[in-house]
Amino acid sequence: MDNPQISIVAPLYNESETFPHLIQRLNALMDASPLSIEVVLIDDGSRDRTAELMQALALSDPRYHCVFLSRNHGHQLALSAGMNEARGTEAIMVIDGDLQDPPELLTDFYQLYKEGNDVVYAVRRKRKEGFIKRAGYHLFYRLLRSISYIEIPLDSGDFALVSRRVVDVMNKMPEESRYLRGMRTWVGFKQIGFEYERDERIAGESKYSFKQLFRLAYNGIFNFSEFPIKLLTRLGGTAIAFAMLYFIYNVIKKYVLGQEVPEGFPATLFTIIFFGGMNLFGLGIIGEYVLRIFFQSKGRPLFIIKSKIRNGNWE
Ligand code: UDP
Ligand code: MG
Repeated sequence: MDNPQISIVAPLYNESETFPHLIQRLNALMDASPLSIEVVLIDDGSRDRTAELMQALALSDPRYHCVFLSRNHGHQLALSAGMNEARGTEAIMVIDGDLQDPPELLTDFYQLYKEGNDVVYAVRRKRKEGFIKRAGYHLFYRLLRSISYIEIPLDSGDFALVSRRVVDVMNKMPEESRYLRGMRTWVGFKQIGFEYERDERIAGESKYSFKQLFRLAYNGIFNFSEFPIKLLTRLGGTAIAFAMLYFIYNVIKKYVLGQEVPEGFPATLFTIIFFGGMNLFGLGIIGEYVLRIFFQSKGRPLFIIKSKIRNGNWE
């Protein structure tokens, strides 16, 4: 298949149990759909029979493009590899390999894409995971939203249909700690949410370890926020101002009003708060420089042009 309209990208890590179900659903979808579709499967260094199964499939069915990573690189990097490999000319749909994201939503997503949306992202109406995980996700997305400098949509993961031009920009973003749902939002254009109910895993267990989940959350927060550093400067500044006021208050009390001021204590308190504040403030200032290095080192495109009109013509 040379120029499929759509690529469906799914990363797989030790998914031999879910594999037959996944392929069955994808085959049914491709057989029924009027669109030309390729499937890009990425083996993220699986230790079970996943790679073997993928190999057999790709050698017999040209609609499947299979990529094998040298070792386990983690979900976000596996997805990035898949997005790089995808050749879909119109759009790329990203799904999980465990069928928690129903691939059949392609029809609805594509419809919205055709209506002029560059990104159609899935929003989980209900999660079927355990209480602690659900609460964790819920809090995390709200925290991220409150401190991020872009409006990352709530309760949406990587499951989305993304237009070719957005994927091209994402592929050109060289940052190595990748938080794809944030990068996707950052690119811009017209983006729309689509509510769905997230299914349970069809078989096997979550392949995301607790550590990986934390790393993902960290990347989300630190790749898309500058608030924590600004907070240092503000806290430091507040402490310095408070110490100064306290100093003036004591001076006035003693020398203007002639009242008794205890020996030692005010001076000690002033020193602690003032120099503590100076420390925080100084860290915040260093942080501002680090932020600049941080943004520069991401090497993101400075801007993304949506369209142009020159000499009276759309370009
Ligand atoms: N996955 C991967 N590499 C990893 C961990 C997970 O490619 O290191 C894949 C996994 O096979 C699945 C998808 O990423 O297709 C989502 O992972 P999982 O279902 O474990 O995450 P959860 O749904 O529990 O958040
Ligand atoms: Mg899952």
